[in-house]
Amino acid sequence: MSSERNRFLFRPAVIASVLLACVIAGCGNGNTQETYDVVIVNGRVMDPETNFDGVRNVGIKNGRIVTITEEQISGTETIDASGHVVTAGFIDTEQHGLDPWGVKVNLRDGVTTQMDFEVGVLNVAEWYAAKDGKMQANFGAVAGQEYARMRVHDGMELAGPDVSMPYTLLVHRPESVEDGVEGWSVTKSSFDQINQIHEILDEELRQGALGIGSLIGYAGKGIITYEMYTSQKLAGAYGRLTAVHHRFHPSAATPTENQMGAKELIANAMALNAPLEIHHDNDYGWWENQELLRLAREQGYNVWATYYPWIAGSGNYGASVVAPDTWEKLMGYKYEETIYDPQLDKYVTRDEFLKFAKEEPGRTLVAFSPPRKQWLPEWTKVPHFTVAGDGMPGLDVNAEFLGWDGAYEDYAGHPRIAGTHAVVLRIARENGVPLMHSLSQLSYWPAKHVGDTGLKALQERGRMQEGMVADIVVFDAENVTEHATYQTGSQGLPSTGIPYVLVNGTVVVKDSKVLKDVYPGQPLRFPVEENGRYEPISAESWKETNLIETKEGLGTDTMGN
Ligand SMILES: [Zn+2]
Repeated sequence: MSSERNRFLFRPAVIASVLLACVIAGCGNGNTQETYDVVIVNGRVMDPETNFDGVRNVGIKNGRIVTITEEQISGTETIDASGHVVTAGFIDTEQHGLDPWGVKVNLRDGVTTQMDFEVGVLNVAEWYAAKDGKMQANFGAVAGQEYARMRVHDGMELAGPDVSMPYTLLVHRPESVEDGVEGWSVTKSSFDQINQIHEILDEELRQGALGIGSLIGYAGKGIITYEMYTSQKLAGAYGRLTAVHHRFHPSAATPTENQMGAKELIANAMALNAPLEIHHDNDYGWWENQELLRLAREQGYNVWATYYPWIAGSGNYGASVVAPDTWEKLMGYKYEETIYDPQLDKYVTRDEFLKFAKEEPGRTLVAFSPPRKQWLPEWTKVPHFTVAGDGMPGLDVNAEFLGWDGAYEDYAGHPRIAGTHAVVLRIARENGVPLMHSLSQLSYWPAKHVGDTGLKALQERGRMQEGMVADIVVFDAENVTEHATYQTGSQGLPSTGIPYVLVNGTVVVKDSKVLKDVYPGQPLRFPVEENGRYEPISAESWKETNLIETKEGLGTDTMGN
């Protein structure tokens, strides 16, 4: 591991940026007069890419880390980080709200880059434009396969910049079922429809979307394997990732074991050499998925998974995953031991569950998976298992947006939106996991894997090095902890022990308070390209690629489409 990391020290790009930094800061010529925008002094500087770990002063200018030094330095603003770790801000690839309150509470948890992968958005150009200059953290999104399927299979227009959470769950999914059929979920695509869906996604990629997000786990009956394969092929044609909530998640029963859904994606990713991020690999069979991903990475493939460090998931009473057929029969769980109602602040009986499922299918529940208690400390020890919060929008108990000023106590939902990153630091600490390893899970590995898809913005983040972008978190390693719990009133309480957060060199959390009306967040996006890259499929094109030609021509319709 260390030899792999040491190599990065000598990468030309790093040397170039250090030299550039020296030109700006005048390092090596004894110029101690340099005044930085911000200096962070006396902190324990840690960089998970190079394994650097030492007490240093950090000078920041024009949004970059210009110097990391033992010399005394001064700046317009000084942060004393004595007794604290100073490292790269956390990078989270699964935040579905990206609304002001959700971004704010995540900043308290040290998250400087918040991206909507897995669900994603539609109309990315408008989406980025609408958020430009209004975000406190860096942001980005993939193109949402589910939305493209809603257009094609439900005839929904989905225009404008707001085609993203919470609209999927609160607006678009109920709308899609008005005619009695959730087309996006259950309809199998013909070749023509696969082409229509992919032409929509191709346009989003051309506009700079970070990849394709797939919720095939919610459309496992509708998305045929060939559609999923060709979705990954399309993202791969741009070198970008597919980010997936996979099929059969979280079934533990054969022949629909959880891992079958992951294997489908991993096989495609390896055959296509297309980057893949599997989301929340938190359930039965995660150990097998992690081994497969590791072995593939050892062969050079850019494939990895995320986890969130909670023993319960969140959903609603109407969801098929908690219906008796799945929850009792496939998972073997008992309602009175696993289904917690935040409004009642208690576990519900089977009768109560069935009543709410019938009368209030949209009502929020918290679903505990008992084995996760044992698994969670192990997740904190897995290399390249990155941390993603799966944060939903910042809503109150009436499903109204809290807004930036909304009280932390008023948030109603899963606590993973507020405490995910502090939980990882606390549990890792309690289990003797080296801090540098945790920092890799929280910042370096997500930056490395997404950066390796060609996204420059993440090649210069997630690293605490001279020349890198100054997304920085300052935290107390001994005491940092979450306060968000499953109980009503505390689901959105912010983490403590993270007094300072900088985004692009601007202080946005000061003395553990998020500063109002400070918007240093930058869009993370690929440049717009002139032409799309999608090659429409047909039985004919398949034959041309896969068969030799004989004097009878290419034969009959092999694929039966
Ligand atoms: Zn998911």
